[in-house]
Amino acid sequence: MARFIFITGGVVSSLGKGLASASLGALLQARGYAVRLRKLDPYLNVDPGTMSPYQHGEVFVTEDGAETDLDLGHYERFTGVSARKSDNVTTGRVYSEVIANERRGDYLGATVQVIPHVTDAIKEFIKSDLTDEDFVLCEIGGTVGDIESLPFLEAIRQLGFELGRENALFVHLTLLPYIATAGELKTKPTQHSVKELQSVGIQPDILLCRSEMPIPEDQRRKIALFCNIRAEAVIEARDVDTIYQVPSVYHDEGFDQEVCRHFGLLDDDTEPDLSVWEDIVKAVRQPENTVRIAVVGKYTSLIDSYKSLAEALAHGGIANNAKVELQWIDAEIFEREDAVDHLQGVHGILVPGGFGERGSEGKIAAVTFAREREVPYFGICFGMQMAVIEYARSLAGMPAATSTEFGPAENPIVGLLTEWTRGNQVERRSDNDDLGGSMRLGSYQCALAANSRIREIYADAAEISERHRHRYEVNINFKQQLEASGLVFSGMSPDGDLPEIIELPAHPWFIGVQFHPELKSKPFAPHPLFTSFVAAAIAQSRLV
Ligand code: GLN
Repeated sequence: MARFIFITGGVVSSLGKGLASASLGALLQARGYAVRLRKLDPYLNVDPGTMSPYQHGEVFVTEDGAETDLDLGHYERFTGVSARKSDNVTTGRVYSEVIANERRGDYLGATVQVIPHVTDAIKEFIKSDLTDEDFVLCEIGGTVGDIESLPFLEAIRQLGFELGRENALFVHLTLLPYIATAGELKTKPTQHSVKELQSVGIQPDILLCRSEMPIPEDQRRKIALFCNIRAEAVIEARDVDTIYQVPSVYHDEGFDQEVCRHFGLLDDDTEPDLSVWEDIVKAVRQPENTVRIAVVGKYTSLIDSYKSLAEALAHGGIANNAKVELQWIDAEIFEREDAVDHLQGVHGILVPGGFGERGSEGKIAAVTFAREREVPYFGICFGMQMAVIEYARSLAGMPAATSTEFGPAENPIVGLLTEWTRGNQVERRSDNDDLGGSMRLGSYQCALAANSRIREIYADAAEISERHRHRYEVNINFKQQLEASGLVFSGMSPDGDLPEIIELPAHPWFIGVQFHPELKSKPFAPHPLFTSFVAAAIAQSRLV
């Protein structure tokens, strides 16, 4: 049976619970265990799909087409284990299930309550859809003390009791703020946070303490005493300069050893092999080249909105021994100012996924700049759609080319995707469907054209599989006209109905993809498209 590790956070948000969970997953994996990571989110949205990226950061899409919390991206990048729909649940989803059960009469007339009905549904989720995992790591979103997280805390308290101490472990992540005037790390917020947890019946087994500086031994003993845990279970989690250093640093502080000790697994305490992480950190620290890539998007003020993208670009850098400097540019600026002023001297331009008309003309201006000046261009999803519109306007004689996402159009180069196939099933959508969960989501096959650049990038694979999240598509009715003017459709859905990839053979590197390759890139297995794009940017850097 799987052992369960519950990870909560206290004192403040943004302490990096997701990264801590992902890193512990990687450490247990390095010891030869099979891991699974899950996230329980206390907010009321059914999933983050309809939440603004400004509010919640990126929406991470799983292979099986779920729109999930961005922490699942960290989990995948650190463990390589593909997340599934069943790995992320929110209060909204739990309640909608409980209410649906109630309407069906499943509760046989009982009064439906948070305890036991909601907590039972949460426990069921935690234990569902498991196979032969040795460890299931469950991160609870939010901060201890939030009203919303109470049912989740109650559910994991019950589970901890039911599973027994030998099968469950509670990790609590806190902050030790450094007060300069006192010249000290302060332990009081941690003590309060643990008290808060204890008040709902949870005694943490391990405290992971984020801190800017080393925790002095007497502070460690003080925390242990007040929080009712062993001093060795107070683990220092110091700030590091690259996130890929976290697994090694945690190991050096004894985190995975303490976890194994709890479960009585220290007998097989062979040193885990962390050379993968050490190699990655080395590559990040000693780059041979530096390239500057402009990301022209909409949500550039919140870096978390493009989390996987930033990581994938860094992975492309690791693969090329290069440091990738990102210049985040709000596309709207090009609607007021000349693109040249902002893009001159960059070695690559990337237009990422996006929604809605705002900023679209600016993105199109960035495409024009990249195409005309032969700067490597990478368009992802919306970025591919804008590239096709730009091409249609400038070179295929369709000055009115646009997307129906922005309103009715004379030349709907990009139009609503109303029908597509998944396996043997036809999926249909219309204009007035619900916005939540109704896009073309998750992984789909794509056939690559012979002799194309994309085929070369994918090591001559004839068919690939990538993850999607879109409601609009490049309109196949314009394919012939666009191809006649030089744009190549080098990737299509296997039935030939949906354009998936475009490229410009006459350009040094100009590729647009309808899918999101950034979701599958890992630091230890950089995605070939990002490796190739960064390589093109390095070549460009030698020209300018
Ligand atoms: N808004 C576009 C669509 O729905 C692009 C989506 C995206 O970039 N993920 O098709």
